[in-house]
Amino acid sequence: MNSIELRDVDVVVIGAGISGLAVADELIRSGLSVTVLEARDRVGGRLLGSPLDLGASWFWPGEQRVLTLAQRLGVETFEQCRTGDALIDELAGVQRYPGNPIDVPSYRVVGGTSALATALAAELPPETIHLQQPVHEITADLRIATPDQLWQASHVVIALPPALAVQAIALPRELPTELIDVAARTPVWMGDSVKVVAHFEEPFWRKEGLAGAAISRRGPLGELHDMSGPNGEPAALFGFARAASMHPDIKTDIREQLIRMFGPQAANSTQLLVHDWSKERWTTPPSTGGLPDYAMFGHPVFQKPAIEGRLHWSSTETARTYAGHIEGALEAAERTVVSILGNRT
Ligand SMILES: Cc1cc2nc3c(=O)[nH]c(=O)nc-3n(C[C@H](O)[C@H](O)[C@H](O)COP(=O)(O)OP(=O)(O)OC[C@H]3O[C@@H](n4cnc5c(N)ncnc54)[C@H](O)[C@@H]3O)c2cc1C
Repeated sequence: MNSIELRDVDVVVIGAGISGLAVADELIRSGLSVTVLEARDRVGGRLLGSPLDLGASWFWPGEQRVLTLAQRLGVETFEQCRTGDALIDELAGVQRYPGNPIDVPSYRVVGGTSALATALAAELPPETIHLQQPVHEITADLRIATPDQLWQASHVVIALPPALAVQAIALPRELPTELIDVAARTPVWMGDSVKVVAHFEEPFWRKEGLAGAAISRRGPLGELHDMSGPNGEPAALFGFARAASMHPDIKTDIREQLIRMFGPQAANSTQLLVHDWSKERWTTPPSTGGLPDYAMFGHPVFQKPAIEGRLHWSSTETARTYAGHIEGALEAAERTVVSILGNRT
């Protein structure tokens, strides 16, 4: 670490996902100096794609933090279209199900959920966020190192999935064993999912009285939903597949499934995007596939900052409520901010 200039800051936030950005924003408003170190060349983390979401799409009634943030940033939201019949794709054939028992009421973000991250990042002072700076070491005296930067902080916030942090970052040896153990066993929410988005000229399924919502027992997409923007523009369907079912010609299988379920017009997608989150180095560590214990989410060890109250955990996996959701990422950020402001030096 010695040949690189050491820079001082009150707080280093590791990760410019929505949680890390929310922490940085609140602390800067409270007068602290903050640096955000982000491994990727973009902000947003699991909020990706504009306007077609390749990461998170929805927020749900009662998720007030997301709504409040969108309103504050002037980012528009709209209601998920649920009108029409659902489809069930069985081995025996495709059944039409009257009404739509699949989609629950939810909201979407105009321009995709990544608009929340880019708008929030734009609020931060210039030079706050440093892209392409993967942190690989945090020392017990809170020196934070990337391959070409070195920071000295009073607080450090780990705003990335805990299992990824313990695999990708050399953490202080002083951290409690239980904390490391729990972090290593905490699943990454949606870390083994594949999101598929099919973009069309128009939402043709709506004209046939279909909602775009479907369950398939044949796959490769297990569930599908309408992902069109407000008033059907842009027009899109999306589905989730399992990472284990991916193969080089998966798009052919997906096209066949869409035609089987939605008819010949489904052959005319203008774009077919397949995003495998299990292959995303800065989301999913190699060994997370087999982590099944979602009871680890919001574990008490994540609520109490370590290293004399100076090392904090702030990804959605650490939230006590709404863990896994954007709302959970914002809840974790709130807890982190309270904790840091209550322990200023
Ligand atoms: C396919 C999919 C669908 C989803 N659907 C929904 C949905 O509909 N509704 C919903 O509420 N939630 C949904 N989610 C979950 C939602 O995306 C997450 O809850 C939320 O985005 C997590 O934010 P975060 O800031 O906690 O973590 P992340 O977004 O993962 O941010 C962590 C950041 O840390 C960075 N990073 C990682 N390692 C390092 C390092 N060593 N050094 C520096 N930076 C690092 C990453 O690049 C990333 O930017 C979905 C997720 C996926 C993948």
